[in-house]
Amino acid sequence: MESRYAVVHYAEIGLKGRNRGFFERALARRIEERLQDIGPALVARLPGRLLVQLPRPVPEALWVERLRTVFGIAYFAPAIPTSKDLHTLTEVILHHLPSEPIPSFRVRASRTDKSFPVTSQEIERHIGAAIQRQTGWRVNLSEPAWVVYIEIAPKTALVYFARHQGPGGLPVGVSGRVGLLLSGGIDSPVAAYFMLKRGCEVIPIHFHSGPFGDWAASEAKAMAIVRWMRPYGMPPWLYVVPIGELQRAIVLAAPASYRLILYRRLMVRIAEALTRRENGKALVTGDSLGQVASQTLESLSAIEDAATMPILRPLIGLDKVEIIDWARRIGTYGISILPGEDCCQFLMPPLVVTRPSLETTHKIERRLQIEELVQQALAQALRIPVSDQAPVLAL
Ligand code: ATP
Ligand code: MG
Repeated sequence: MESRYAVVHYAEIGLKGRNRGFFERALARRIEERLQDIGPALVARLPGRLLVQLPRPVPEALWVERLRTVFGIAYFAPAIPTSKDLHTLTEVILHHLPSEPIPSFRVRASRTDKSFPVTSQEIERHIGAAIQRQTGWRVNLSEPAWVVYIEIAPKTALVYFARHQGPGGLPVGVSGRVGLLLSGGIDSPVAAYFMLKRGCEVIPIHFHSGPFGDWAASEAKAMAIVRWMRPYGMPPWLYVVPIGELQRAIVLAAPASYRLILYRRLMVRIAEALTRRENGKALVTGDSLGQVASQTLESLSAIEDAATMPILRPLIGLDKVEIIDWARRIGTYGISILPGEDCCQFLMPPLVVTRPSLETTHKIERRLQIEELVQQALAQALRIPVSDQAPVLAL
């Protein structure tokens, strides 16, 4: 079905009490942005739902492609608005019947306008009977093959025939901003997805081994991930920070087994500075407990010890297979498994401490000019644009 209109039912926003208007407006803005190139879209607030209007009809598949990635949406449907009388409603529905016979159907009506003189059940019976008279199709209330949905709102009635699942969550922007440590790996893009889903704006920050090693490939992967995740609400840019020189300084001053912890502590400090610059309030990583040496409780606390803002770890309780499953659903998996070095493979010692002691960590750091190293990296940090048009890496 081609349609200029879609009705959008929101997820948890309905529970937000007095803040509901704020959440509804945020969701409306996210929908407008997502439809910008086929808009401008007009979004009207009806009780408990939004009605989206485009300047011209678009195929159902296009609505689905766009709204499927807008957090805050529970479900949506391309819809036909009609006037609110039973006669017109019946006419419109009979006009839109499927051309092929169907095994069974039912009508589902709901009223947000309780002053409408006919009850939901009466509407369902009246229209169901009209469809039966015209087609002879069977009614099946429990497992219908086809459903006619009718919503009676204060000023208009809406008719639709298929509900599409939204991604749930909260509209991006309502929960504030977080700095994301984005590697080229599988996990951190999934962590980004979960934070966006909870309404956070994400500031992507990628560290690479520049000026040493194949840092360009690493940067290209991070850019490709940000670009791929634009429809979910990633910004059109990312921070890229070369830390090769810092890693060298660490190699010279630290025992091999503590290097990884020290890199991570530096990353945390640099990411915090960039996140503050953008008015962010927390850091996010793709850590999952026990997955690798740097993700034991001891390692996580030795890393967190360098932080002054909360570090959020949305994947902490997920297994690798579950994370991979999400990466596939989000579509980042194909990019993450492309060749491209991880900056921590660079100068990576064969032996990594799994239970670092904080005391030793501090002792080693006292030999390093930490603040200078951080400032040196910040001076080289670039905020680079990620164009929507740029070609994605060959997948
Ligand atoms: P990922 O798949 O996200 O790289 P991983 O399983 O490889 O995770 P680690 O390499 O130990 O795990 O990284 C743990 C977390 O540290 C990552 O999820 C990411 O948030 C952060 N991180 C690691 N390397 C980088 C990097 N080069 N730039 C930015 N953040 C990084
Ligand atoms: Mg990694």
